[in-house]
Parts: sequence; structure tokens; C-alpha cells
Amino acid sequence: MIAIYPGSFDPITFGHLDIITRGSELFEQVIVAVLCNPSKQPLFTVEKRIEQIRYCTQNLPNVEIDSFTGLTVTYAKLKSAKVLLRGLRVLSDFEKELQMAHTNKTLQGEIETVFLATAKEYSFLSSSVVKEIAQFGGEITHLVPKKVAEDIYKTYGITT
Ligand code: ADP
Repeated sequence: MIAIYPGSFDPITFGHLDIITRGSELFEQVIVAVLCNPSKQPLFTVEKRIEQIRYCTQNLPNVEIDSFTGLTVTYAKLKSAKVLLRGLRVLSDFEKELQMAHTNKTLQGEIETVFLATAKEYSFLSSSVVKEIAQFGGEITHLVPKKVAEDIYKTYGITT
């Protein structure tokens, strides 16, 4: 069974990587799909985010990286995926994610959303938290892979 793990991944964190790793043990193939969202102003280009995710998942042979625009369910159907994989951290995630899962179900009834609970050590972790810390030169190497941390500091013009 193929699962799509859609998201912004701007940038990828250890929280995302935990979901990808555990997802890759549950499904035959996991496609990490970076959403090109024209209404968001990202820190990294889609190409850069793909490169970062590819680098961090090179040890997982059944993980593929891609990007998409438009509806996630349309993309999932195109890829013959039956599952949308999402991570859940806190209660506020749940409200948003449940609404999205229900909406997607009305659009493509045959596609299921599967939630994985965050690893408890990453329940506070988001791409935004990482960016907030990094822009003031704070420590982020416990939150994102080293190469990604270097990219972030470089983008903010911070020398480490
Ligand atoms: P989006 O803009 O779609 O929310 P994100 O890149 O922020 O994109 O997140 C993609 C998915 O990863 C979402 O399902 C989100 O809940 C999940 N996620 C993000 N951070 C973590 C984390 N620390 N632990 C578990 N899941 C996470």
C-alpha cells in the first residue's frame, strides 16, 4: 500500500522524520509530497526542501520525494495511493486535521487519512519553532538534521 505524506516541510524537522521513518515501516511505499502553496511565503524553495528531505531519508529505500500543487486527494489518486499520512502533536492539530480528513473523505471517499501520534520528545516541534529560534542565532541542532540547520543559519545570514 502506498501512503502520501503531504506537507510544507519548510524545513523538515526531526518530528517529520520520525513520522516518515515509522510510516516507512507500516507502508510499502511512502511518498513525501511537498506542497507548492503560492499563498505562503516559504523560507526555502520547493527544490531546496526536496533536496533536504532526500538527503535526510537516503537510508529509507521505500521513501520517495515529490512535490505537488492543488488538491492532495487529486495528487494521491494520480499516484494510486490509498492513504494520506499525517502527524498529530497537540489538541489544536487534531481539530485542523480532523476537518481536513473529513473534507478529503467527501472529495475522494476511497482515500483514508492515517494519523501517527508524534514521538513525545517532538510534540512541541514545528518548522516555525525552528525558524523562530534560528533567526536569533539559537541552538537548533537537536531539532533538525545538521545539514538542514546549516542551510537555515545560512539563509538568515548567521555564522556559527
Ligand atoms: P502543513 O503546512 O501541511 O501542516 P507541515 O510541514 O507543518 O505542513 O506538517 C506536515 C505534517 O507533519 C502535518 O501532519 C503535521 O501535523 C506533521 N508534523 C509536523 N511536525 C510534527 C512533529 N513534531 N511530530 C509529528 N508530526 C508532525
